[in-house]
Amino acid sequence: MTKDEFYNYLEKLEIVLNETQKNQFEIYKDFLLQYNEHTNVTAIRDEKSIYLKHFYDSLTLNNYLKAKDKVLDIGTGAGFPGMVLAIICEKNYFVLLDSNHKKTDFLIALKEKLGLKNVEIINSRAEEYVKQHIEEFDVVTSRAVAHLRILSELSLPALKIGGLFLPMKANVAGELKESLETLEVLNSKIIDKIEICLPFENSKRTILKIKRMGAINAIYPRSYDKILKKPLKKANK
Ligand code: SAM
Repeated sequence: MTKDEFYNYLEKLEIVLNETQKNQFEIYKDFLLQYNEHTNVTAIRDEKSIYLKHFYDSLTLNNYLKAKDKVLDIGTGAGFPGMVLAIICEKNYFVLLDSNHKKTDFLIALKEKLGLKNVEIINSRAEEYVKQHIEEFDVVTSRAVAHLRILSELSLPALKIGGLFLPMKANVAGELKESLETLEVLNSKIIDKIEICLPFENSKRTILKIKRMGAINAIYPRSYDKILKKPLKKANK
């Protein structure tokens, strides 16, 4: 996807970039390519793939955010989808979280270059950060980070009651089935499943809309080791 194709396809998502935002995407792409030459922050290393697989793909989430939502992006890596959304959603506040210092150092430098005021970068394990930020967010996003069952325990306690968890997944069918009991224990429900087809390569993506319905026991999220080894079962509630 070239830069012009990126602008055109965004119009189909009802997103029209202003000159400042076009410039910010240009700065993001150049800085990512340049930074990646000495420090590996993404496996995607060519301009066209950055427009398609990082920028366009991240922006497919835009329609599911409301103005003023406070958003947590877990395992943001080099800022996907969180930093991309922050460029176009000026009225939202984004916390971009990753445990890898290489990635968060990149994001701190990028934030300065983009001049964004609606973004906070945090270096932490999600399970530790979320424990201190229970019921704080309207939306949690996460792309390509972990199995849905694991991500659900990391994400849902951070949401206000009624808030939305919007994981982006390439392959979700098996994971969904394996996560149903976890969602039940965490008082949350899948309310929609949106299939996305990336232009040009026609690859399939799914955005799940998972709503936190009520209270969640304060013992969650548990330590990562426990989350991995002891899947939540209704009997363990
Ligand atoms: N979301 C980005 C994307 O789609 O390009 C990055 C995906 S990358 C495959 C997964 C990222 O999740 C890594 O940067 C890793 O450091 C981070 N991560 C994995 N588990 C984590 C945890 N428990 N807490 C914080 N970050 C985590």
